[in-house]
Amino acid sequence: MSNKRFSLALHGGAGAKRGHDYNVEIAHMRGLVEAARERLAAGASALDVAVETVVGLEASGLYIAGKGASPNAEGEYELDASLMCGSTLRAGSVAALQGFKSPILAARAVMEQTPHVMLAGQGAIDFARDQGLEAVEDPASWFTHAGAFEDNHPPEALPVGTVGCVVRDAEGRLAAATSTAGVFGKRPGRVGDSPIIGAGAWADGHAAVSCTGQGEYFIRTAVAAQIAHRVRFGGESLETAARAAIQSVADLGGHGGLIAADREGNIAMPFASSGLKRAALLLDGSIVSEAF
Ligand code: ASP
Repeated sequence: MSNKRFSLALHGGAGAKRGHDYNVEIAHMRGLVEAARERLAAGASALDVAVETVVGLEASGLYIAGKGASPNAEGEYELDASLMCGSTLRAGSVAALQGFKSPILAARAVMEQTPHVMLAGQGAIDFARDQGLEAVEDPASWFTHAGAFEDNHPPEALPVGTVGCVVRDAEGRLAAATSTAGVFGKRPGRVGDSPIIGAGAWADGHAAVSCTGQGEYFIRTAVAAQIAHRVRFGGESLETAARAAIQSVADLGGHGGLIAADREGNIAMPFASSGLKRAALLLDGSIVSEAF
């Protein structure tokens, strides 16, 4: 196993603000990368590591996903998540899921326990309950940002950040996972890019991608699948493809960032936003964790 190579990247969302101290998030992301490195060294699959890492990001309350979710314009928590396995092209996602602690586990269950790719709204809720996934009993005491929108204004200190992870495991398999509460003050029922396979997440035999930013722009430019297709059909390097895809968002007037891995284990983490909380284990064994 030791001569086999693996790599991964994770993100805690685009839009890091200059002047804000992200040391807690940077240390947390580094810790998750170190844990993932141990799992990959022991032979864990890309899919398992991507999901475990996103569960860790969701549970921390440090990002706008899982416990750290922000409410929509009516004070409800509607969460989106997706994942995709690059070696099988199997995928699962949930949209506007309410009442559960880990949307990414619900997305995995959709992938593994149904013939479907995506469940939304009440159907997703009923399914998560049937699966026995851990419910949020009391939103006011569970969510970190409960009450944050009481005056209908996100407070200045509220952190920004969808979460995600891409992995290239020791067998060369790729996987991607993304989880979010979506953009601030969204309308009830609004669905962003994060649960949409090909927009906010994608993995095939060539690249794995997880996105963050203004989801409407990422949907319109199919960012995640665009990168894999640039690599596969256009022969572009991962870095070139990832930069071109984020530029397609910027060209429409949107902002955001992404993390990507290719079949060789190269990592790209470009952003067209004020920052991107991100961390990675690179092929040379080094770890980076930063916000700008
Ligand atoms: N992309 C997410 C959405 O549009 C938001 C984010 O990344 O912060 O729902």
